[in-house]
Amino acid sequence: MQEKPYYCPECRSNRTKFRVLSTTYRSFMKDAITGMVQNLTEPITIEETEPTIGCLVCGFTGNEMRFIKQAEREPRVMTPTTPAYR
Ligand SMILES: [Zn+2]
Repeated sequence: MQEKPYYCPECRSNRTKFRVLSTTYRSFMKDAITGMVQNLTEPITIEETEPTIGCLVCGFTGNEMRFIKQAEREPRVMTPTTPAYR
């Protein structure tokens, strides 16, 4: 994952809450006669060049680049957080 801001291109309200989807597989042996599953391995994660990102607000999923590009198109305006009272 890249250290860049994301912005959901679907709901356009979320810049902070995401999940990353990864593909895993488990290999196993099968008994040809009884159909019994044997030697089931632990899940193995498939390394992907570009991760798939999901928006936790609307559920949209897409390539990481779509979220990054949307954030670049509509960057967050930095608002000063200094308290107004004195
Ligand atoms: Zn969204």
